Amino acid sequence: MAVMKFGGTSVGTARAMQQAISIVAREQENAVPLVVLSACSGITNKLVRIADAAGRGALDEAMGLAADVRSFHVALLDELIKSEASKKEVAVQIEELAGRLEMLIKGVDIVGELTERSRDMFCSFGELFSTTVFAAAMKGQGYKVAWVDVRTVMITDDHFGFARPINEMCEENVRRIITPLLQQGTVVVTQGYIGATKDGKTTTLGRGGSDFSAALLGAWLNDNAIQIWTDVDGVMTCDPRLVPEARSIRVMTFSEAAELAYLGAKVLHPDTIAPAVQKNIPVYVLNSVHPDAKGTIITNDPERLSGMSYGGLVKSIAVKKGQCIINVRSNRMFGRHGFMNELFGIFARYGVSVEMISTSEVSVSLTVDEKSFSEELIHDLESFGEVDREHHVATISVVGDNLRMSRGVAGRIFSALKDVNLRMISQGASEINVGFVVEESEVLTAVNNLHREFFSGWQNEGIFETPAGRRMDYKKAGVDISAGEEFVRMIKPQVRQTFTSGVITDIGAFGGFFQPDFSPYKKPVLVSSIDGVGTKLKIAIELGLYDTVGSCLVNHCTNDILVCGAKPLFFLDYYACGKLTPANAAAVVTGMVNACRENGCALIGGETAEMPGLYHERDFDLAGSIVGVVDHDNIINGSTIEADDVLIGLPSTGLHTNGYSLARKVLEGRMHQTFTGLDGTVGEELLKVHRSYLSVIEPFFGSPDIRGLSHITGGGLMGNTMRIVPEGLSLDVDWKSWPEPLIFDIVRREGHVPEEDMRRTFNLGIGLVMIVEKKAVNRVLSCLKSQQENAYVIGQVHRR
Ligand code: ADP
Ligand code: ASP
Ligand code: MG
Repeated sequence: MAVMKFGGTSVGTARAMQQAISIVAREQENAVPLVVLSACSGITNKLVRIADAAGRGALDEAMGLAADVRSFHVALLDELIKSEASKKEVAVQIEELAGRLEMLIKGVDIVGELTERSRDMFCSFGELFSTTVFAAAMKGQGYKVAWVDVRTVMITDDHFGFARPINEMCEENVRRIITPLLQQGTVVVTQGYIGATKDGKTTTLGRGGSDFSAALLGAWLNDNAIQIWTDVDGVMTCDPRLVPEARSIRVMTFSEAAELAYLGAKVLHPDTIAPAVQKNIPVYVLNSVHPDAKGTIITNDPERLSGMSYGGLVKSIAVKKGQCIINVRSNRMFGRHGFMNELFGIFARYGVSVEMISTSEVSVSLTVDEKSFSEELIHDLESFGEVDREHHVATISVVGDNLRMSRGVAGRIFSALKDVNLRMISQGASEINVGFVVEESEVLTAVNNLHREFFSGWQNEGIFETPAGRRMDYKKAGVDISAGEEFVRMIKPQVRQTFTSGVITDIGAFGGFFQPDFSPYKKPVLVSSIDGVGTKLKIAIELGLYDTVGSCLVNHCTNDILVCGAKPLFFLDYYACGKLTPANAAAVVTGMVNACRENGCALIGGETAEMPGLYHERDFDLAGSIVGVVDHDNIINGSTIEADDVLIGLPSTGLHTNGYSLARKVLEGRMHQTFTGLDGTVGEELLKVHRSYLSVIEPFFGSPDIRGLSHITGGGLMGNTMRIVPEGLSLDVDWKSWPEPLIFDIVRREGHVPEEDMRRTFNLGIGLVMIVEKKAVNRVLSCLKSQQENAYVIGQVHRR
């Protein structure tokens, strides 16, 4: 078991969410995880704005923002879920959530007051939405997933906006609800940040609280690791947004991490560590963009820590902006016993926490969050003496185990800050931090100077690491090995479904092994062919429909050897792209798998190549080759064709795989257009699958009635059929003898394409031509009819 928490940025776009799904899928192969999600990035902030707007009666504004939240999630599921049926199912859930959010807005608007309780209700929607989409998308990809409403598990007190769990109840709920699902091998997806009181009122644990939820759930599960997946390579030597050179910290102690989180490093919620410490569970902070980067391990395990933490080492620099210094000056009361107690009593009364403090004979200076206090508090403080404030300051803290005990550190700190105006200095009560206050405008200079002092150069490589995002590697150069592995993992089960008895190796070997059974053949001949899909791919890319072009390819190759009299044995494909998106590439393979199964052909190998720079990001190419077998005596090659033989045409499903450059040019930008008489849109029509003629033609194999077969591809009906017609003979085709599918006429009319080009470029409705001895025509036609094949006599062979 493992608890995996993904933060807002790790689920904030379809791509990020897909990446998170892949990370969960990979973990699930080792241990079935409990997945705890944040809201998609930016959504909780939007919900806060919705709540505020509803509270002050700005109904239109609130409803407008709610509509944004709804459509954001609809777009997300649209991109992530391919199957129409499952898309519909989730869409219903999303609409229901959106409906509840609207009802809440209207309710608050009517009452005219926003309570803390309803504010929590608003904020809870972000996590409910994100988990709903995530669970459905993962389910859609074939995983066993359960969505759990965490409010049935995380029972809290009623301190709305800052609720704390009732441990025993929660632990029992975890045992009752979550553990059994995990034990059955079901991935559990649930919400961070939110909970409910005993009587079912929704609560939240405070902003950024999903980390805390994950740690709590991990502790109740008695898990062996808590993974916090975020958008940076773990806990870093400073916020990388302030210090671009920041490096990631490989290992830290619980106390270092707790101190750092409390002092402002946003990467971890300050309360995250407590439940982990209690049960001594290591916390891993990992990067969902670079899942293979090592990240940070937070632990007290001496083995892990050995060599990673030594006296006086500065591990990190934390910054808290938006602070205010309050100075209280008095020459009367300082030093008087009980004075401090009274002073802090005022802060306690207003529920304001004091961050840093420094005292002298005549004054006390302290910092508080700018947004946390009111004028009444200042007024009350004035009873002690003169009060003044310095706004727009930031606290900076240097954190490291045993920092205060080590010699020279303070000197290095202050010399690094010699050009900065220090407004306040505080040793901090803990031994592991030294803090000071600077004006906000000097934060960048201060932290970059400090960072240079303690972390420049390549020393301490074992402890600090350059983040993966800054290292030039294969992935940065555009080739993502892990995406390749992910893709192979996704396609393996499908590809195995094509394996026939001849296949003796699994995918992944250097070569595909195939042991054919030639016993039914007197003199087996192998027939092979190779082809591509051409620019039909562009339409698939434009429409985002990836799972049919693979069938076109396999069927195309099957037909090519079929017209020689051969039955397919195995197929190998080549997929090359600008950027490998495992889900799309896997959909392409689904198409090939479907056709391979239909044709009894094993997909025994392939190559996937990611070639940034050669192809545009979304572009890909698809090619494949087939090998089949025919008995020497049954080879069909047209050599027996004679004058007066008859041409029988079998219908195509559409353009099949040729003529697309012309058709696309004519119908550019009109893929979603419809025409009277056309079943779907132009795009859907053009994407229709190139059919296989194997099942229809196979019954004729070995029959002397069939003198030649021609697969109509590029070159058209005449061009292809003439390939098999012996010298001295020619073809007489009655072009009006079969119904031409409407799409061809649309291209003809819209592009003013001359008839000759139409005939040379397109199949015009005939995908395969059989050349049959005249007296066998009726027999052949009735056999075709018995297979529900609409065949047409379309011409004959004549002497030139
Ligand atoms: P999530 O959505 O995954 O919970 P947060 O935005 O809450 O992510 O936290 C991650 C962010 O914390 C990082 O993008 C980084 O800018 C910031 N951060 C601040 N201090 C640090 C630090 N010491 N190490 C890493 N990241 C930090
Ligand atoms: N979604 C919540 C927030 O933005 C909780 C979290 O992301 O941890 O604060
Ligand atoms: Mg966070």
